[in-house]
Amino acid sequence: MTERTLVLVKPDGVQRQLAGRIIARFEERGLKIVGLKFVKVDRALAERHYAVHKGKPFFDGLVAFITSSPLVAIAFEGPNAIGMVRTMVGATKPADAVPGTIRGDLAVEMGQNLIHASDGPETAATELAIWFRPEELVSYEREIDRWVRGPEAR
Ligand code: UDP
Ligand code: MG
Repeated sequence: MTERTLVLVKPDGVQRQLAGRIIARFEERGLKIVGLKFVKVDRALAERHYAVHKGKPFFDGLVAFITSSPLVAIAFEGPNAIGMVRTMVGATKPADAVPGTIRGDLAVEMGQNLIHASDGPETAATELAIWFRPEELVSYEREIDRWVRGPEAR
């Protein structure tokens, strides 16, 4: 099933100048960019995005970090994109993240694990609506998509 999911290259990724490389990994896989923006997040948006973690010991630090410096928000589309992206991102704790995943290749600290990705269909829908207005998510067809759709589309 075609899905859309939210990816954030968090401030550590921008500071380390890894944004392009991180985005490229998803592009190389074949996922389609349908939304992209560079944002300095305010506290209200950060708290909405991480609302599920409110009250946890790491919440204040997480919000402080995510608002400390700009990030890149990307909406990706593709078959089973939500699970595919989570698999590519790797475990939350970089020490547990398998090499070959983004965190497993590029991160060591839990608080600086480079990337956020929606963890399920409901979260993806909620998060995409937090970060993008409807008109900022762009539907378009690549030449290759016609082959996926079948002979009548070609
Ligand atoms: N986090 C942290 N300490 C923890 C748990 C999480 O600093 O004990 C941070 C970490 O940056 C993580 C984010 O909070 O990416 C959100 O946590 P979540 O469990 O949703 O992990 P994710 O979905 O990003 O893998
Ligand atoms: Mg999460």
